[in-house]
Formats: sequence, structure tokens, C-alpha cells
Amino acid sequence: MQLNNLSFDEVINLPTTEIMNSSFKCSCGKIHEIPIKKLVIGKEIVKEVKTVLDSIDIKGDAGIIYDRKIENKVVNSAVAVLNESGIKSLEYTFEKDSGLVLPEIENSKKAADFFRGKVNYLIAIGSGVISDITKYAGDLLGIPVILIATAPSMNGYTSILAAMTEGGIKKTLPVKTLTAIFADINILAKSPVEMVLSGYGDILSKATSVADWKLSQIVKKTYFCPTTFHITDKTETLYMEAAEEIGEKSEKGIEILTDSIMRSGLSMTIVKNSTPSSGTEHAISHYWDLLNLMNKKEKNFHGTQVGIATPMAIRLFDFTSEYPVKKKVSLEKLKNTYMEREELKRFLLRKYKNYGKGLYDQVEKKYLEWHDKKSEIEYVIDNWDSIWNSVYEYVRPVSKIEDVLLRSGAPVKYTDIGLERDEVIDSIVNGWVLRSRYTILDTMHDLGISLKAAEKIVPNL
Ligand SMILES: [Zn+2]
Ligand SMILES: [Zn+2]
Repeated sequence: MQLNNLSFDEVINLPTTEIMNSSFKCSCGKIHEIPIKKLVIGKEIVKEVKTVLDSIDIKGDAGIIYDRKIENKVVNSAVAVLNESGIKSLEYTFEKDSGLVLPEIENSKKAADFFRGKVNYLIAIGSGVISDITKYAGDLLGIPVILIATAPSMNGYTSILAAMTEGGIKKTLPVKTLTAIFADINILAKSPVEMVLSGYGDILSKATSVADWKLSQIVKKTYFCPTTFHITDKTETLYMEAAEEIGEKSEKGIEILTDSIMRSGLSMTIVKNSTPSSGTEHAISHYWDLLNLMNKKEKNFHGTQVGIATPMAIRLFDFTSEYPVKKKVSLEKLKNTYMEREELKRFLLRKYKNYGKGLYDQVEKKYLEWHDKKSEIEYVIDNWDSIWNSVYEYVRPVSKIEDVLLRSGAPVKYTDIGLERDEVIDSIVNGWVLRSRYTILDTMHDLGISLKAAEKIVPNL
């Protein structure tokens, strides 16, 4: 199936379901692609799956992946409908005594081994974790993956990435996009309100994530597309206004949220990485995942954490941009505390035990020798005002984000998700080690101001 050529105006203005399977030429010089063939949003649409699959030439037997513990009821009725419509299927499920299934690469491998040679495509029935496990399994088998979503709990369904873990370490891996996505409003409206609010928190991250992307372009000279994140401008107004309706799970609220998460994920697909939707707020959230893993505590919903971390990230931008850096930062002092690579490795192994090696492999990619780091810091200090002028075009006011979170009923305090103040401060001071990507956490770390910033912006609860 050939991609339809669209103009960027059309991509911004057409309904989300109509911009699938398209490509467009962008002012950044690239041709961006949306290779998802079909997105269907509506009611009672599981009945339509077979017809839609026929129309995009997906034939043969399906391998269905789901999490029995969470999805038993939904899955049973969905599978019955699929079978009635003529889809033959085999099922693979995850059963654990307690807790959520983790998006471990190992889980995808097991599912792929189970289905190898027996099915022609995979159907994920579930939310974020099941979708990502299945996308990755589909890539291992080289077969298409379709999704019947059961909760509007994050923005990754339409993304070209799978947020996996390997031995607990977060890895955002490039995969093929889903071939078709079915979002049935009736099913989604029945998902727990915590999952709905998690989806809301995830899309609110746009309030700072684009700012980190811009910051990285200025400091690290990385790629930045100045137009594609406008793809969510229209939905942004709608979902900001619909905070209460989303929190109440009204039909309109669920429709707006579902459309918004689908659109939001496309920004990652278009540039083929998660940078437009994942900045400081995601790094902090991933750090909390790591802490919970190390402390053997239950994982929180991804988007719930992102929602709590987003106002923090905005406050970190505010703190840093207002910091009297020329008066207070001494390169001589920074030089004395700067870690050599080997020292950094030892620090990570000591602090994060068996996760330290995985972290080092990530952070090593951006780590500079002092000589180069010094030039980078000098560049940042010399261009201080112009950097923040450019970056602040992409930072939303913190009061606005906190207001919509409160109106939706989403958790807003770190204590709501069982975190201690020390842990939050730790995540701000050391969150930069989690990723190879440059964010304001790196800027603050490099300038030696991250502890000051954390102590200022994290309230005593
Ligand atoms: Zn572009
Ligand atoms: Zn996210």
C-alpha cells in the first residue's frame, strides 16, 4: 500500500483517522511518514476488525496477546466477536501471581517463540505494556501487529517505538508501527479512571518536552524539526479545556483524550524517535521506575508519574533560566568535581548496583572529557539569554498545567504515588544518568546547580 502524499496543512487540519498511511514534505527538509495503515476510533468497532483487515490485505491466522489478569472480561468478549467474524486465532497470555506484566524484552521473545510459524499476524488486546510487548514480538517474527486498545493510558500506540525494559533498564527501541489500531470508545470508557488520567498526564508532557528538544538542538546541535510538534496544537486546546470531562470519563472526555493520545504519539513516529514527547519529565518518571524497581515497590502508571513530573520540569526550567549563572558559576570549581569516565562508572555501579552497568552504557554516549565539557559550558554561559529566549517559546506556564491536572482529578503530589522528598530530589540531581539524551537535567548538573534547584522546587509534604 503506497503512502498518500499530503501537505503539512492537511496533516495539521484533517481528523486524526484520515492522516494515517501518509507522507508529507516538511520545512525541516525531510519527508516525514506515518506508516500506520488504519486508525479506527468509534463504538462497537471490534465487529469491523475483519473487514478493515481485509481492506489492507491482512489475511490468515491471528496470534492474540493479552494479560489475563487484567483483561479477562474484555478479551473474552473481543475474541468471541473476532472469531464470529471469521478470524481464526491462537492465544498467548501472561499470568503472574501479583503485579503488572513488565515490558521486558524477554516477554516478547517468549510470545514470539510461542507463535513462530503458526500465525500470520499478531493482535494485541490491552494497553501500553501489551502493545509494546506485541510490537516487539511482531518485529522478531517479521509479521504485522494490530491493536485493540483497552485503555487510553499513554501516548505510545501510534508511536514507532516500543518502551521496553531489559533487566529493568528502560530502553526505547525502534520498531515497526502498528499496522492498524482499533480504539473502541465503549471499551476505553470502561477502563479504570487511574488509567484514563495516566493518559492525560502523558500528553501534558508536551508542556516541557519540546523545550528540552530545542535546548538539545542549541547545546548539542542535534536535529530539531520546528513544525511537526504543531500536529498536536489543535487537540491541545481541546484536551486542556476538557480536564473535568476526561476525569469524569464522560463519552466526550474519552473521545477527546483518545484522539489526543493517538495524535500525540504520531509526533514520535514522524521523527522516528521519542524526543518530541519525552524530555525531563520522562527522565524523572523513568528514574522513579528505577527506584521502585530497586526498592521492590509496585510500579505506578507511566502517565501518572509523567503528569506529576511535568510541573516539576517546568519549575526546573524557571529556576535555571533565572539563575545568576555569570555571577555564581565557577569553572574552576566545576573542574575539580568533574568525574572521569572511570569514576563515573564506579559511581553508577556503587549507587545503582546491578543496574549501574546498563546506565553507564546509556550515559557514556553523551559523556564528554572535561576539555570538551568546559567548552560546552562556556558556550551555554556566553549565550545564556538567547538560549532561554528560544527555549521558552516551548515552555507552558506551570500554573496552567497544574490547574488542568487538578481539574481532572489526577494525582499532583509526589506523595500521592508513594514517593519521599529525598527520592524526588535524587531524581532531579541524578536523573541525567538515565538517558543518552540531553535535557535541562544535564544543564543543571553541568553547572553544579541541580541540588539547589531540587531543594527549591520540591515542596516539603
Ligand atoms: Zn520536519
Ligand atoms: Zn510517555
